[in-house]
Order: sequence, then C-alpha cells, then structure tokens
Amino acid sequence: MNEQGLSRRLQRVGAAVPEGARLADIGSDHAYLPVALMLQNKISYGVAGEVVKGPFESAKKQVQKSGLTDKITVRLADGMAAVHPEDEITAITIAGMGGTLIRNILENGVAQQQVTGKERLILQPNVGEAGLRNWLMSNNYEIIHEEIIEEHQKIYEIIVAEKTEKPVLYTEQELFFGPFLLKEKNETFRNKWQRELLQKERVLQQLQQADQLPQDKVQEITRQIQWIREAIG
Ligand code: SAM
Repeated sequence: MNEQGLSRRLQRVGAAVPEGARLADIGSDHAYLPVALMLQNKISYGVAGEVVKGPFESAKKQVQKSGLTDKITVRLADGMAAVHPEDEITAITIAGMGGTLIRNILENGVAQQQVTGKERLILQPNVGEAGLRNWLMSNNYEIIHEEIIEEHQKIYEIIVAEKTEKPVLYTEQELFFGPFLLKEKNETFRNKWQRELLQKERVLQQLQQADQLPQDKVQEITRQIQWIREAIG
C-alpha cells in the first residue's frame, strides 16, 4: 500500500492532514487512508474507526498486512466512540459519507467530549455540504481550506476546519458553495454547478406543474437558481 494505491479523492483528504498528526479516520472501511499516511511517515499514530463488522475486519487485515498493528488501532465503534482520551488525537478525517451523517458523528462526538476542538477536521461529504458548513459555523469552526475535485465523473468537495475563538460568520452563499470554492470558481466548480443548475431548473419546472404549488420549495429553489447563475454566469 502506497500513496499511488489511494484514490485521488483520498490522496487529497490525506494532503490536508498535518505532518506528525495523531489521526482518527472515522468510517475507515479498509483503513486505506491511515495506512497510506503511516507508510509515508506523515502521521505518528492512527485510529481507524468502523461501525460495520465487515469493513472493520477489512481494516484490521489491512493494518496487519502492512505491519502497522503497533501504530494504528482499529476499533469497532459508532462514530467518535472509536476515539479514547489516551489517543490524544490531533486530526480527524471523515470521508465518503453524507454531510448529515458526518454532522451527526461530530455532534455526538462533541456531546461525548470525544471531539475537543483541538483537532483539525478534514471532511469529505458526498452530499449535504451546506448543512455541514452550517454545523461548522454554529460550532465556531473556521473553514481554513477547501478543494473540489473530479474523479470517475463524480465531483467531491473537501472541507478543512479548525476551531477558533473568534466569531465565525458565513453568508448563505458561502455556506451553499463553500467560501474558498466560491472565491476560486475553478473549472470543476463550474462543472458541478452547471449540472446542479440544470437539475434544479428541471425540479422547478416539475414543482410549477403541481396541482398545489409548494410555495416554500419553489422560493428556495428559485433563490438557489439565482445564486448559481450569479456564481457561474
Ligand atoms: N472513508 C472511506 C473512504 O472515504 O473511502 C470509506 C467510505 S465508506 C463509503 C463509508 C464507511 O463509513 C463505511 O465503511 C461505513 O460502514 C462507515 N460508517 C458509516 N457510519 C458510520 C459511523 N457512524 N461510525 C463509523 N463508521 C461509519
């Protein structure tokens, strides 16, 4: 297992992990990410957390096969329960899940004091990015970096955040598009929002044909369509 073995998506998630970090990878599946980062000597310790038995067993096998059992601990646990205080985790990666699930994992982690605010969060939601950014803002996490990448015709966003003392305030558009991504507006960003625009226009048309016009939904989608046109127009 080396960096070349990682998908580009996971390579980019790994790139945001600080050198020497003590990493918790939640929803680790095969533990590919912590194993690759450990083999690169990028992290000093890893926890691979998995809630499902099959992927948990795969993670254990991968860690054993790589000779890293003394450096990466694999735990069968729901979300942040995989992390124990003595792990002294400094970075958390949660990738390849919906934004709502990631948010719930973080929310429970904060309630259980498994997320202390000292960790850098590196999040890669498959959907529901805006809701996740909203959670970060409400919990005083500042977004310090974002990426948008395309792999196998799928577009992924990576959000990196750290807790701060100062107030965190993003506009609705920044939450929707991502503050960094909106500033940069690269080609992948344009592709994503071009696709979303077409989809939202179709949804709006369908809504307008409904017998009873769902006013709130129509208003929301119309507003989003306007934002997208402004952003990529
Ligand atoms: N993180 C890897 C990646 O990005 O390639 C694997 C992504 S995989 C699609 C999502 C994994 O998260 C699955 O293995 C699933 O069992 C695990 N998962 C889902 N909910 C979880 C939770 N609450 N706690 C821990 N793992 C969870």
